[in-house]
Amino acid sequence: MILLVILAGVHCQNHKDLVEEYEDRISKAIKDTDTYTLDTDAYRYKPKSNEIKYFGEFDYIVIGAGTAGSVVASRLSETPSKRVLLLEAGKAPSTVTEVPQLAGQAAFSDYNWGFYSTPQKQACQGYKDNRCAFARGRGAGGSSLISYSVYSRFSFYDMQRLSNLTGYEWTIDCYKKSENFTQTNADAIIEQSAHGTTGPWHVENAQTNNVRSDAFRDANEECGQPLRDYNTVFHEVGVDNLQLNKKHGKRADTFTDFVMPVMDRSNLNVSLESYVVRVEIDAESKSADSVLFTKNNVLYRVKATKEIIVSGGTVNSPQILQLSGVGRPALLNKFNISVVQDLAVGENLRDHVALVITMSHNVTDEGVDLKTAVEEFLDNKGVLTAASVDWVAFYDSTRGEYPDMELVIMPNLPTPVPEMDAKLFNFAKEAMADMIASTPPKVFRFLAILLDTESVGSVSLQSDSPFDYPLINNNILSETEDLEKLYTLINIVRNLTRTEGFKRIDAKLVTPKLSACKGSEFDSKDYWLCVFRQFGLPGYHCVGSCPLGKDPKKGAVVDPQFKVHGVEKLRVADCSVLPFLIRAHTAATCIMVGEMVSDFIKNYILFL
Ligand SMILES: Cc1cc2nc3c(=O)[nH]c(=O)nc-3n(C[C@H](O)[C@H](O)[C@H](O)COP(=O)(O)OP(=O)(O)OC[C@H]3O[C@@H](n4cnc5c(N)ncnc54)[C@H](O)[C@@H]3O)c2cc1C
Repeated sequence: MILLVILAGVHCQNHKDLVEEYEDRISKAIKDTDTYTLDTDAYRYKPKSNEIKYFGEFDYIVIGAGTAGSVVASRLSETPSKRVLLLEAGKAPSTVTEVPQLAGQAAFSDYNWGFYSTPQKQACQGYKDNRCAFARGRGAGGSSLISYSVYSRFSFYDMQRLSNLTGYEWTIDCYKKSENFTQTNADAIIEQSAHGTTGPWHVENAQTNNVRSDAFRDANEECGQPLRDYNTVFHEVGVDNLQLNKKHGKRADTFTDFVMPVMDRSNLNVSLESYVVRVEIDAESKSADSVLFTKNNVLYRVKATKEIIVSGGTVNSPQILQLSGVGRPALLNKFNISVVQDLAVGENLRDHVALVITMSHNVTDEGVDLKTAVEEFLDNKGVLTAASVDWVAFYDSTRGEYPDMELVIMPNLPTPVPEMDAKLFNFAKEAMADMIASTPPKVFRFLAILLDTESVGSVSLQSDSPFDYPLINNNILSETEDLEKLYTLINIVRNLTRTEGFKRIDAKLVTPKLSACKGSEFDSKDYWLCVFRQFGLPGYHCVGSCPLGKDPKKGAVVDPQFKVHGVEKLRVADCSVLPFLIRAHTAATCIMVGEMVSDFIKNYILFL
C-alpha cells in the first residue's frame, strides 16, 4: 500500500516535470522560429576541399529520408543480408515537428528548405516579388515533418488511371499495409474494413471538436453532403472528421514510424546531415554506380552494388537527376553537364491550388493557456494535437463521381497572426495590410483546395552548382479552368452560409478588401478571380517532375517499375513519379510508392 502511494507520487512528479518540460520546449520552438531566416541556397553543405573520401559500399543507397525514402530504407533492410544506406540532408525530428499544432513554426525552421517559386505572372501577385512560398521538408521524415498530417487516399478514378498507365493494379491494400489506424473520435464515420491496423504508420482522428466544426458538419449535411469515411476504396464526396497521421496526439512522421523502430538492424545505416551532390553514372554502361555526398563539409563517395533509389521529393529528385546527367540536353549543355540520358526530367510539375478563406462568426471561446494545452496534448486531446485542421468536406464541381475540390476547416486558427502569416506565405506589405484591415475580430478559416488542376510548371537547374536551389516555375492558375473552379468553391461556401448549421454561429464569408482588385466590382466574380491571383497558393502537393510511364518519348522518366528509363540500377521513389495529380492529399500515396518500389526491388511483384 505504502509502495503504491509512493509510486503514485513519483508518477505525479514525473507528469508535472513532463508538462513543464514540454511548456519550455514549445516556448523555445516558437521563440526560435521568430528569429529564424530560411535558407536561400544549400551552400552550407559545400565541401571545404575537392578531395573525395571513400565512405564504403552498400547494396542499396536511398537518397532522402523523407516520406517515401524512409519507407524504402525500412522495407529494404527487412532482408538482413542486404546492406542499406539512407542519406538525408536534414536533422532528426524534434519538438517543433513532434507537436502537430507547431506545423506553421516547423515550416519556418531548419526543417523547411525554404524554396520559393520564380516570379509568377498569373498567381501569387499579393506575395513579395510575385513569388509563392514553396515549403518542402528537410530532415528525417521529409515533408511529413512539416505537413498538416491529413491522411487522405486517392479516388477510385485515380486508381484506375494509375493501373491503366502501369499495366498492374494499384489497390487500397497497399495503403492498408502501411496503416495503423485507431479511431479516437466517436463522431467520426469510419469504415473499419477499409483501414489497416497493423502497419507502421499511425492514423488517428482529429479530436479538437468545437462548435464551429459541428456547424460545418451540419451545414454540409444540410447541403446534401453525406457523412461518410473519405478513405474508402471509392473516396466519394461527403463530410467527415479528419484522419490525421499522429500517435497519441504526436505527429507520426515517416522516419519516426518506419525507421526509428528498426534502427537496431545492423544492416541499416542512416547518415543525417548528408547532402547528395549527384549520382555517378557510368557513361558507357549507363549504370548508376555510386553517390557523391557531403557531410560536415567533407566530400564522400559511396558505392552501390545493387541499386540507388532517389527519394529527394518532387523538387530535389529532378535536381539530383539533372546534376547526374539525366535530363534534357538543351538544359544540361548550358551548364556543361555531360548528358547520360535524354529524358523529360522536371518538365511536368503539377500541384493542387490552395486558398485560405476567412469566415466571421459570433462564438466566444475560452482561451486555453499553454500549461492546460500541454496537459491535454499529453492526454491525446486538445489544440496541440492538430495543425488547426479538424473536419473536411469533399465536393465534385463536375457532378461526376469523384471529388475534385475540398474545404478543410481550421476552427481554432487565431485571428490574424500578421507576422507568422507574412512569413509563411511571403505576403507583400500592401496585400498584408489590406488583409489585416479586412479581417473581423472573430474568424475561423477554410483551407480550400482544388484537387484537379490543369496548369503545368517545371523544375530546372539554376546553375551547374548542386548548392544553388533549382528554379521552380509552378505556374499555378495559368489555366482559366483552375480560376473558374476556385470560384465554384466560393459559391459552395456561400451556400453553406445559408444553412441553419452556419446561421447558428452567424458564419459569413469575408471578402477581403484588396487595393489590387479595386478595378472590379466588390465581391463580383471578377473581383474574386483577382483575389485568387493575389492569394492563391501552391497546394504543397506537388507531383510529376519525374513521371511514371511506359514511353520516354511521351515524357516518362521512370518506367512502371520506377526504374529511370535507359539507366541501370537507378530508381525514383517519391511523389515526383506521379504523372498526374491525385484527388487527395499526397503523403499517403508517396508512402504507397515507397511500398511498391520496395516490393519491386525485393521481387515481390513478379507478374510484369
Ligand atoms: C507545408 C506542407 C503541408 C502538407 N500537408 C499535407 C497533409 O496534410 N497531408 C498530405 O497527405 N500531404 C501533405 N503535404 C504534402 C506531403 O507532405 C508531400 O507530398 C510528401 O510528404 C512528399 O513526400 P516525398 O517522399 O515525395 O518527399 P519529401 O517527404 O519531401 O522527402 C524528400 C527528402 O529528401 C531529402 N533531400 C532532398 N534533397 C536531398 C539531397 N540532395 N541530399 C540528401 N537529402 C535530400 C529532403 O531533405 C527530404 O527529407 C504537405 C506538404 C507541405 C510542404
